[in-house]
Amino acid sequence: MIIGLLKETETEKRVSILPDVAGNLLKLKAEVWFEADAGLNAFQTNNDYVAAGAFLKSRSEILSGADVLLSIHPLSSTDLVAVKPTAVVVGVYQPLFNFISMTHWAEKGMTTFSLDMLPRTTRAQAMDVLSSQANIAGYKAVLVAASVFPKYFPMLMTAAGSISPAKVLVIGAGVAGLQAIATAKRLGAVVEVFDTRAASKEEVMSLGAKFVEVEGAADASKAGGYAVEQTEEYKLKQKQRIHEAIVKADIVITTAQIPGKKAPLLITKTMVEEMRKGSIIVDLAAATGGNCEVTKNNETVVHHGVSIIGNSNLPSTMPADASKLYGKNVFNFLKLIIDAEGKLNLNFEDDLVKGACITHAKKIVNDRVNEIVNKTAATN
Ligand code: NAD
Repeated sequence: MIIGLLKETETEKRVSILPDVAGNLLKLKAEVWFEADAGLNAFQTNNDYVAAGAFLKSRSEILSGADVLLSIHPLSSTDLVAVKPTAVVVGVYQPLFNFISMTHWAEKGMTTFSLDMLPRTTRAQAMDVLSSQANIAGYKAVLVAASVFPKYFPMLMTAAGSISPAKVLVIGAGVAGLQAIATAKRLGAVVEVFDTRAASKEEVMSLGAKFVEVEGAADASKAGGYAVEQTEEYKLKQKQRIHEAIVKADIVITTAQIPGKKAPLLITKTMVEEMRKGSIIVDLAAATGGNCEVTKNNETVVHHGVSIIGNSNLPSTMPADASKLYGKNVFNFLKLIIDAEGKLNLNFEDDLVKGACITHAKKIVNDRVNEIVNKTAATN
């Protein structure tokens, strides 16, 4: 079986697998083909891949010859023409948003595995790309904010006067939020946190941050660690509490999301206008509409002296470790679909294989994606 590693587009610095994983794939009796400079932005040369046992091939040879294609982002329509119909594609395709592309991929006959759709169970942790990459995003969000913040983070007593610690507000204490809290604390900031899930309170407090309680949140205990939609009354109450906290904050990191839905709008333009000049908002939910009304995806906007950073691919700014962790996730997933003889073995009885599979045998096979496709067709 041939596993093909594609070079990502200009703006993406990560690569699906590093040479060490390519070497481990050989042990699974697979052959690895890679596109020239696929790992260059992650500081891995073509020679590094060759030394690991992989073969350098052209993009068109890989597209038309590989049985399994590794591409973090969706393939372009031009690439799609060259792909063989029996190919398996593995990446992060956000199929709940990119469902139109998924219908084209299904028509082509390809089998698509989108690792962002893996159920978040204990067994899936070793292949959970959302966690490995969101962890980086949370860490980098704080560092990006610190690098443009015109003040210190830690409290300092100097002969020239004292500096009070930066006040950081984190909205959403999931994977990205918890790493943002830990990073801001390490830099010496005072951190306050909002989350709708009561279960996150203990984790937030164990990191030394203050959890701001808003009474009346909907019960999310059966949502597998994810948030659920809140009542209008709760949303209003939460907005007021966020408003009170935000005018005192220097830095706001927002990470609130409900899977498959547009990000909840938690920070209005008016709230931004009431923040101190020089304050920073890093909106990690920019790709799904943003938690802040002023956010523009992949742009930094300055509004009333407040910088709103909407970089939606922070993992790409740390390509070496992001690729290392992503590649390990991919490898652990490939072990599920490659048998001892090095042949493809798609066992749809396995909840992880089934959960991550979006298209197979000319159909969209994921219930949540199908629901959106059908709903959209009914409204058009
Ligand atoms: P997650 O699901 O683990 O965490 C989201 C948290 O938000 C949950 O704890 C949830 O309870 C909370 N939440 C939901 N609605 C809320 C509300 N109204 N108020 C307060 N909290 C609320 O998700 P994650 O993996 O930590 O990712 C967080 C966000 O960061 C997502 O939008 C994700 O797409 C994004 N992300 C961005 C980048 C980037 O580079 N910008 C990279 C990775 C992930």
